[in-house]
Amino acid sequence: MPGRETHRPRVNGRAVASAAACALFLAFLAGCAPSREFLLRKSTEIGAEKNYVRVLLLNTAERVAVASPARMKISGLSDRRVHYDGKGRSVFFYTEKVKEPVVVESWNSPLSVNGVPYRGAIELHSRMGRLLVVNVLTMDEYLSGVVPCEISSGWNIEALRAQAVAARSYAYYHIMNGNDALFDLNATNRSQVYGGVKVETERTSKAVRDTSGQVVSHNNKPILAFFHSTCGGNTIDNNKVWTGEAREYLRGVRCEYCSRSPHYAWEEMLTLYEIRQHLARKYVGVGTVTGIAFRKEGGRVNHVTVDHKNGVVRLSGNDFRLLFPEKKIKSLYFEAVKTRNGLLLKGHGWGHGVGLCQWGANGMAERKAAYTDILRHYYRGTSLMIMAEKARPGSQNKLAPGPPPRY
Ligand SMILES: [Zn+2]
Repeated sequence: MPGRETHRPRVNGRAVASAAACALFLAFLAGCAPSREFLLRKSTEIGAEKNYVRVLLLNTAERVAVASPARMKISGLSDRRVHYDGKGRSVFFYTEKVKEPVVVESWNSPLSVNGVPYRGAIELHSRMGRLLVVNVLTMDEYLSGVVPCEISSGWNIEALRAQAVAARSYAYYHIMNGNDALFDLNATNRSQVYGGVKVETERTSKAVRDTSGQVVSHNNKPILAFFHSTCGGNTIDNNKVWTGEAREYLRGVRCEYCSRSPHYAWEEMLTLYEIRQHLARKYVGVGTVTGIAFRKEGGRVNHVTVDHKNGVVRLSGNDFRLLFPEKKIKSLYFEAVKTRNGLLLKGHGWGHGVGLCQWGANGMAERKAAYTDILRHYYRGTSLMIMAEKARPGSQNKLAPGPPPRY
């Protein structure tokens, strides 16, 4: 059972006002977001299949407030036992009180989690003293909250469509290959950034609708469609950035379209002191840095050796880049010039450089390329596929490809 409060929610004996939180929802009353249960019922009626994504919103030891201004229902996820079904309210969940997983649904209104509104339903699981809050919603509802977080909504519509298809492919890849029983994707840049209802824009939602069901496929399966801000002239093979198998569709390609990106060329000073400081956060006993060597492949640094007073640290280029704040080393596509107390990095691009280059996608679109041309350029040897779910009454629904459309 969830910890439940109505008019005067209390935390550790202190009353907490909930009026402000409730007022937040009024704006969404008109937006008709069907609940999971509604969708399931509708799916049965029209004989279509459900098509859900499970996104991890929070993994927290703190209490979590779930609220709706409209009819709200809380039930057991497995036994469907109804704990509450009535008027909208704000409910606090505590990990120690959620003995069994619960699902919260609302009618004709998004549910908010700690004040942030989301479409679909909210599931809560208690795991080792923490609450896992999972948003369950349709693929296109999810993508409507992803595309505007990942790309500028003012860009060319063909670039937005390409981004929508790439994000959908990435999500389906994880749905079909994931091994976590409770969720398919994170809401952060560990997967794709997802911001719920409040980030949605008309243009990005249109791009999602225009391409509904479409994914980039390889060998008849959705691809792991990586993307990044700016490649700086060339994308890179996935296995030159990360360990793991080389993927044919993630081979580096020439990109002549991202030169308008503000990140196309950059320079950054990196002192030996900074290198030591950031290495020491991860490695024990790092002394004063005495030398540093970069090994490159495909124009990008893929291995770094740092000599210091107490020894040597060897790490992959990507691990080295991720030691620093996000904007310090924007990409591994750089030349290092020695300076008096460190290095001057002269670089190109922003991001890991694998898969679709977003600024390049927009550059291609500005040159009249269709989103299909963009996807075909960055994901070589792929085709476009429609994801449909085959009806299998009484059994787990499995995703299966529909008829192949043009590409
Ligand atoms: Zn590019």
